[in-house]
Amino acid sequence: NLFTETSLSPDILKAIGELGYESPTEIQKQTIPFILSDIRDLIALAQTGTGKTAAFSLPILDMIDDTSRKIQLLVLCPTRELCLQISKDIKNYSKYMNIKTTAVYGGSSIVEQMRSLKEKPQIIVGTPGRVIDLINRKALDFSAIHWLVLDEADEMLSMGFKDELETILSETPETKQTFLFSATMNKEVERISKNYLTKPHRISV
Ligand code: AMP
Repeated sequence: NLFTETSLSPDILKAIGELGYESPTEIQKQTIPFILSDIRDLIALAQTGTGKTAAFSLPILDMIDDTSRKIQLLVLCPTRELCLQISKDIKNYSKYMNIKTTAVYGGSSIVEQMRSLKEKPQIIVGTPGRVIDLINRKALDFSAIHWLVLDEADEMLSMGFKDELETILSETPETKQTFLFSATMNKEVERISKNYLTKPHRISV
């Protein structure tokens, strides 16, 4: 298993081994060492199907503090389907860790999701509109966020989530690292990157 060269923890290697992952994909080869070095923001141009969920979540799971019950990772994505897919993947990767992941998205009971947040997840995967609703209801504590992932940033912007993204980007700690994933680069994505990311490292697969 070529993942053993990445220095990911045995709990993570065991979980991905059971999923049949034998070697890192191209984007994973680039992001895993970069994110593990814990230096700065990232812009990755990548399509779905390239393994991008594991590309950001494996190194973050390796560094997350599972003794803390505060939200450390927030992943934003455009749709309910993607939200459920990403949270399912992260739950699989972290099955041998003491990590709770909660998905929050529109079109589903907010009361139910608020109940799930009371169980103190360290990871939230959400759609921008629902995350804003939960912020307004004071159901999310972002004070310990270390990583913010914008997945399919181009899609989120073309769906009209610009204001929501800007609110979330400015209401999360300044010390966080932001990783932006997008299939395409356009003016809107560049503008968000320029205004909210600090000297991002750029990769493209
Ligand atoms: P994604 O681009 O994150 O949607 O991933 C596409 C698919 O590839 C998903 O079904 C993943 O489970 C799978 N996958 C991700 N990384 C690997 C890997 N290193 N080896 C084999 N399959 C993988």
